[in-house]
Amino acid sequence: MDQLLLWAAFVATSVRDHRASRWYGQAGGMVKPNVRGAFVAANVRDHRTSRRYEVQFPRMANRIRRLFLFHIFVVGLIAATSNTTFSQQPQLKSITYRLSMSKPVSHLFEVSIEVELADQPTSTSLDFQMAKWSPGRYAVFDFAKNIQQVHAASGICPRQEDQANTVTPTVCRPSPLLVTRLDNQTWRVDTRGNSAVTFNYRVFANDLSGTFSQLDARHANFNGPSVFMYIANQKAHPVRLVIYPPTNWRIVNGRTDRATQREWHFPNWDIMADTPTEIAPDWTLDSFTVDSKTYHMMVHSFGDEGGKRSALVRDIEKIVRAQLAMWGPPELESYTFLLHFAADDRSGDGMEHLTSTQIIEPGALEEPDTYQSALGTVSHEFFHIWNVKRLRPRELGPWDFSRPVNTRLLWVAEGFTNYYGHLMMMRSGLWTPAEFLRRESRTITEIENAPGNRLMSAEESSLVASFIDGAPHEQRNNLINTSISYYPKGELIGIVLDLMIRGRTEGRASLDDVMRRMYQEFYLNSPNDSYYLRGRSYTTEDLVRVSSDVAGFDLTNFFNRHARGVEVLPYDEAFGYVGLRVVREALSDPINAGITLKWQSTDAVVGAVRHNSPAEDAGLQQDDELISIGGRKVTRENWLRFLARYKTGDRVPITFKRDRKTMQTNVLLSAPERFVFRIEEQRDATELQKKLRDQWLR
Ligand SMILES: [Zn+2]
Ligand SMILES: [Zn+2]
Repeated sequence: MDQLLLWAAFVATSVRDHRASRWYGQAGGMVKPNVRGAFVAANVRDHRTSRRYEVQFPRMANRIRRLFLFHIFVVGLIAATSNTTFSQQPQLKSITYRLSMSKPVSHLFEVSIEVELADQPTSTSLDFQMAKWSPGRYAVFDFAKNIQQVHAASGICPRQEDQANTVTPTVCRPSPLLVTRLDNQTWRVDTRGNSAVTFNYRVFANDLSGTFSQLDARHANFNGPSVFMYIANQKAHPVRLVIYPPTNWRIVNGRTDRATQREWHFPNWDIMADTPTEIAPDWTLDSFTVDSKTYHMMVHSFGDEGGKRSALVRDIEKIVRAQLAMWGPPELESYTFLLHFAADDRSGDGMEHLTSTQIIEPGALEEPDTYQSALGTVSHEFFHIWNVKRLRPRELGPWDFSRPVNTRLLWVAEGFTNYYGHLMMMRSGLWTPAEFLRRESRTITEIENAPGNRLMSAEESSLVASFIDGAPHEQRNNLINTSISYYPKGELIGIVLDLMIRGRTEGRASLDDVMRRMYQEFYLNSPNDSYYLRGRSYTTEDLVRVSSDVAGFDLTNFFNRHARGVEVLPYDEAFGYVGLRVVREALSDPINAGITLKWQSTDAVVGAVRHNSPAEDAGLQQDDELISIGGRKVTRENWLRFLARYKTGDRVPITFKRDRKTMQTNVLLSAPERFVFRIEEQRDATELQKKLRDQWLR
C-alpha cells in the first residue's frame, strides 16, 4: 500500500522526510527503508583501513570439535535432569533432520525427520509441531499454513550415500504409520511400539526474508522455524541436520567450518533453528579477522554490485571493531553476515542470530542508498550478538512457539539496540557526530508526534509485539492512533538514560557500563537457567537494579515513569548534561487536518483519521475517496500545491465519495499539533558539559 501522509499528518517528521520516517519500529530485527523505515545512512568517508580476504573457511580444530561434543553431552545432561516436563516424554536416542530440494522451482522443501526411540519405548506417540512465530519478528505467522504432504513410516531407511561402502544395499520396506492432525500446528504419529520413526513433509517457501524462507531457481535461503518442525517437549534434545543441495549449489551458514560441509550437529533444536542458511551456486564470501575471531561476509546479489563489495567488507570491519571496543571479543568462533541485495524494491529485512545475521536489502549493492542502508542494518544486527541473543530478557529463549511471545523488555532488546546501532555508526567513523544527532532528533520528532506515545508505554508496546511487529491485519484497527513502537521509544529511553548516567556521574559511568555489567552478571556468570544457552535471562527488576547500581542513584522512578508509564522523557535534563538542548519548532507547513491518504491507483483514499482532528470534526472517515479540495480535482501531483494555499483558520471545501454517493464538507484547519525537534548546541556550555559531550560523541 502506498501510504502518503496528507497535511501534516501525525506520524511523519516533515513533508520532506515522509518516506524516511514511517513507523520504522514496526518490524522485528531491523527495518528497511522501503518497508517501514528510516535507515538511509550518512556519507561514508573512509574506505582505507580494511582488507579483503579470500573465500575460505578455517578448519575447525579437533580440540574445538571435542569441546563441541562435550557441550552436547553436558547440555543433554542438563536437559535430562533440570526440567521435569521432559522426564514425562519418550526417551529418544537420536533425531536427524534431512533437508532436500529436488525441484527448486516448485518452492517446496522436502523435510524428513528420523527419530530413534529408546530400545524399549514406553510411549505410543510422537507429536511434531510447527512454530507459530520466529524469534526476532514477533507477529504470529503460523508457519504450519505452508506444510503439505505429511506422512510417517516405521523405521529409518539407510540413505544411499550411507551405503556407499556396503556390498549389498539394505532393502528397506517401511510401514506407514497413522498421522493425526491435532490442531493447526501439531501432527501426532502413532508409533505402535516401533523403535524408530521417519516423519516426512513438504513446506512451501517463497519469501526472501529473515523470518520466512525461499526456495527457487536461484537459491535456497531458510529461517529454521519456518521450515523445521520440532518434536513437542523434545526441543532440548541434540539434533543432526543433513542438507542435500542441488548440484553445484554451495551451503553457508553461521556454523559452517568447511566449504563442502553438508552436515551439522546442534546441541538442541533451538540452536538449529537459530542457524539460517544460504544455498546457491553463486554467492561470494569475504572474510576478515579481529582479535583471532573470523568474520565472514556472504553476499548474494540479484542486481549489480558496481564493484562495491570490497568497500563493504572494509566498512563492516570498522563497525565490528567499534563494537568490540565496547564489549571485547564475542563468545563465538566465527560470525557470518548473510547479505542479500534483492534488487526488487520490495524485500527488506534484518534478523539477528547467535553466530550470524540475515540482512536483505531491497536495492542493488551499487546504489549508494542501498549501500548505506546495509551498513546501518549491519551495525544494528551485530549489536544483537550481545543484546538479546545472549543478554536476553525472560521469555526470549528457550521459546514457547505454541503461543505468541509475551515479554516486557523489547524496548531494551530492540530499542537500546537501535540507539547503539546509531552510536556504533558514529564510533566507527561512518557517521559524523552531526549525522548521529540528526538521526536522534528525527527519532524524537517521530515519537513526540505519535498520538500513541501518550497512550501506550514502552513496556506495553513490548507486550503487544505480536500485533505491531510486522503483523498482517485483515480486521481494521486503530493501532496507528493507539500504539507506539518499542524500537524508537526504546532508543529514546536509551539515549536519555545514557546521558543522565554520564551527567550525574560526571563522566565516570555510562550506559555502556550498564550493558557490560548486565552481560557479565546474567550471561557470563549466572548458572544456566535452561538447556538452551549459557547464563540466565533477566527481568525488568534486574535491569533497574543494575542500572541504579552503575549510575549511583535510584532509577526505579525513571523506569516507572518512562518505560512502564507514558510520561515525556526528561530531554532537557539529559541533553543539558552534555551542553545540548532539544528545540521544538512548529512545522513550516501550518496546515493540520489529521488524516493520512493512501493512493489506490489514481484515487486518493482516506487511510486513517486522527482522533479529535479537524478531519474527524468535518465528518471524514476511513475509506472516503477525496475528489476535490477547494474545487480542484485531487491528483498525486497537485494536492500538496493546493494545500499550500490555505492557512490555519481557513475553511477548506472538500468533495468526497462514500458508498457511491458524492458528499461535501468543510475542514476547518487548526493550529499545528506536529512539531520538528532539533538537537542543538548550547552556546554557553561549561567545560564539564563540553568534556562530557566529547566523551559521548567520540
Ligand atoms: Zn533488532
Ligand atoms: Zn541467496
